[in-house]
Amino acid sequence: MRRRMYAGNWKMNFLPEDAAKNAAEFRNKIQTMNAAEIVLCVPYVSLKPVMNALEGSVIKVGAQNMHYEEKGAFTGEISGEMLKAMGVTHVLIGHSERRQYFGETDESVNLKVLKALELDITPILCVGESQEQRNLNITNEVLRLQVNHALQKVYTKDMERVVIAYEPIWAIGTGEVAEPKDAEKACKYIRTVIKNKYGDNIANNTTILYGGSVDENNASDLFAELNIDGGLVGGASMKPSFSKLINNGIRASTTKGDDYY
Ligand code: PEP
Repeated sequence: MRRRMYAGNWKMNFLPEDAAKNAAEFRNKIQTMNAAEIVLCVPYVSLKPVMNALEGSVIKVGAQNMHYEEKGAFTGEISGEMLKAMGVTHVLIGHSERRQYFGETDESVNLKVLKALELDITPILCVGESQEQRNLNITNEVLRLQVNHALQKVYTKDMERVVIAYEPIWAIGTGEVAEPKDAEKACKYIRTVIKNKYGDNIANNTTILYGGSVDENNASDLFAELNIDGGLVGGASMKPSFSKLINNGIRASTTKGDDYY
């Protein structure tokens, strides 16, 4: 189902105790109730402390990666089953930092999406072009290939549980945010790719996020765009102003009308 969503990616930051403290402070500031789904994606070791800090709140807890195998000789890896057993509801898949530094491929991304769906964990599938690809004007081509590859063997009935995050690599952690009209164009294109694969209805019901240097000042313009349903936020999600960013985004997106959600 298409919904507004704001997901924070805390990357490799905070010791577990500090993560729990931050989550508790964030919880106190969040008043959105059902206006948007809110998720904090935290390092594995902080999952439990953050869950404890958020117990009874609407805020969900997600992981930043998972393995696609259930168990076995994969030293250092964490399976979806392990996340599920802990109560994790969301998982980032194919974040560009994992593709860039840890050998994540379109094939492994696809296997992880399928596994997350099998376990009823919401996959937040990250796609986006590099600066070089942007300069070559092949953004759409890159997005089409990444989305189609990641969604191989994903059945129509499961598609409404997949969230897609458009994250141009050149905008991640750089302070260089995409122009709202460009982010909208890319998200609209992703919706077209989904439409071509699954039809109009599924495409209109898919939640598509923008990520890349979002902060509380640029949130309103980005999230007022028709095809951007919310954000995947890194740096700014670790600041006290994350709640303001979310509120600004929700306020801006309500101008689109609730027909979308
Ligand atoms: C991210 O980590 O997914 C991200 C978008 O980071 P930032 O908001 O810091 O650019």
